[in-house]
Amino acid sequence: RFFLEAPITAETVDIEGPEAHHLLHVMRAKIGDKVTLFDDSGAQFAAEIIAVGRKSATARILERQEVSRELPVSLTIAAALPKGDRQRWLVEKCVELGVTDLVPLETERSGSLKKEKSLDKLRGYVIDASKQCERNRLMRIGESASLPSFWEASPSALRLIADPVAQEAVSDLLPSVPTDVIIAVGPEGGFSPAEYEAALAAGWRGFRLGKRILRIETAALAAAAAVAAAYDQ
Ligand code: SAM
Repeated sequence: RFFLEAPITAETVDIEGPEAHHLLHVMRAKIGDKVTLFDDSGAQFAAEIIAVGRKSATARILERQEVSRELPVSLTIAAALPKGDRQRWLVEKCVELGVTDLVPLETERSGSLKKEKSLDKLRGYVIDASKQCERNRLMRIGESASLPSFWEASPSALRLIADPVAQEAVSDLLPSVPTDVIIAVGPEGGFSPAEYEAALAAGWRGFRLGKRILRIETAALAAAAAVAAAYDQ
């Protein structure tokens, strides 16, 4: 599976950049090989390689296939992103679980995401994970959001904040009719008391994921898995 940035509309397409490198130098594709292409339209395309160069290849589109692997709802994880490998792990597993949007959250006790380079890097992880798990839509990585204004976002969605001392479990809060969900997860030091209070005042509901203190990515993925398990068909 290979990702093309430009929408696939023509009968032949060129595969360039990192995807060409993967196709030509990792998979060692040859003329006549069959590949699957996707372009974030939701569809995937059966294609055949018809030309190879050193840095690019050309494929002929054989068939457009409508294959949706999306959840029936929009699922947003807003989290203070961990660093290094843990960040990559969070992004990769969010893609696998069907998260539609990942919003880096700036909180009192976390730093801010270092702009464009970081976002490009995160998007690269999204593409790699989408190729692996066969999603045809890319999880969006939103602009960093800061508190308290983020607490006012999307009031029509079910908005849940992960809180180690909350009373309710995430599964208790999910309506049986699938509903768009936003989950906020705090930084290593946790949300401050003022941040929790502002969230609850804005209509967010706290939930607990067992009795242990989880790291950011574990909490985000446990919550995303609960939503996916409840709503994915
Ligand atoms: N001492 C911090 C606290 O009490 O919030 C621990 C922070 S924890 C490493 C990072 C974030 O993961 C928390 O802010 C919370 O949003 C979420 N989290 C961790 N364990 C949790 C649990 N058992 N239930 C719900 N959320 C949890």
